[in-house]
Amino acid sequence: MARMRYTYNEQTCKYDPIVVSPKAAARHVLHFLIISFCLGVAGLVYFNANYPHLDETLLADHNQELKAEWQVLYKQLGRTSDQLSALEHNDDHNYRVILDLEPLDLTQREAGVGGRAKASESILYPVIRIAYDKAEKLKNRLDIEAQSLNQLKEELEKKEKMWASRPAIQPVSNKDLKQLHTLFGLRLHPLLGYVRPHNGLDFTAPTGAPIYATGDGSVNLAQYSETLGNMVFIDHGYGLQTRYGHMTRFIVSAGEKVKRGQVIGYVGNTGTSVGPHLHYEVLYHGTYVNPINFFQRDLKNQEYEKLIEIGSQSVTSLD
Ligand SMILES: [Zn+2]
Repeated sequence: MARMRYTYNEQTCKYDPIVVSPKAAARHVLHFLIISFCLGVAGLVYFNANYPHLDETLLADHNQELKAEWQVLYKQLGRTSDQLSALEHNDDHNYRVILDLEPLDLTQREAGVGGRAKASESILYPVIRIAYDKAEKLKNRLDIEAQSLNQLKEELEKKEKMWASRPAIQPVSNKDLKQLHTLFGLRLHPLLGYVRPHNGLDFTAPTGAPIYATGDGSVNLAQYSETLGNMVFIDHGYGLQTRYGHMTRFIVSAGEKVKRGQVIGYVGNTGTSVGPHLHYEVLYHGTYVNPINFFQRDLKNQEYEKLIEIGSQSVTSLD
C-alpha cells in the first residue's frame, strides 16, 4: 500500500492528507526523467572526454610498442649500413690496393639505387617507407659488394697462380751452398779464354746436392748440352723461364709439370765447368735477367744486401 503524506492545517489543527492529482504526478515524473536524462548525457560526455575507450587504450599501447620496435629495427638497419661501409672501405683501400685494382667509385657502388625508389611509393606510412628505402639501398650496396668480392677472388686466384710461377726461391738450399758467384754480365770465361756474357748465377755446392725448381711451371727441355752439360729448361708462363746447368743428372723430363721447391736434379760438373756448381738463369720474354732480383720473396733484407755486396765483388764465374 502506498504511503500517505500529510500536511498540518493550522485552522483545524489537524493533519490533512496530501492529495496529488494525476496531472501533477505526471509532471513530477516528467521532471525527474528530464533531469535524469540531462545528468546521464552530461556524465557520458564527461567520461568520454576524460577517459579513453577501452579499445582505444589498447590501440594506443600497441602503437607505442610498434614505435619502439620500429626504432630498434631502424637502428639495426643503421648498424648494418655501418658494417657494410667498413667492408666497402676495406675492399677499396686494402684488398684492391694489394691486388693492383682500382677502387670502385661512388657511381658504381650506388648503381641501381634510384631505380627501385618507386617501389616504396605505394607504402602509406612515411616511417615504413623510410625504412623500406634504407633496406633497399642496403640490398643494392650488398649486391655490388658481392660482385666486387667475386672479382677480387678471381683476381686473387690469377695472382696466386702468377706468384707461384715466379722463380722466387734459391735453386740450391743454403745448407748445401758453399759459395754464390753473382757475377752477371760480361766476363772472361774460365775455360774458353775469351770474354762472353755470363747470363746467370753460379751456386757452388757438393756434387749430388738437390736442385729445386724455383717456381711452378712445365719442363721445356731436359737434356745434355755441350756447354751446360745436363740441363733443365722450365717454362713458368707469364714470359718467365729458368735454366739449370751442369747437373750431375736430372730427374724430370720434357712436358712434365713441376712445382716450386720440387727436386729436378742434382749438382754436378758436366759441360764447360771448372767445378761442381749449378749455373742458374732466368729469362723474361726471351731476355736474360739477373736472377738475384727474383729472390726478394725468399730472402730477408740483410741476406739480400749481403748477396748484392758479394755480387759487386765477384770477378769470376765457374763456367
Ligand atoms: Zn754460370
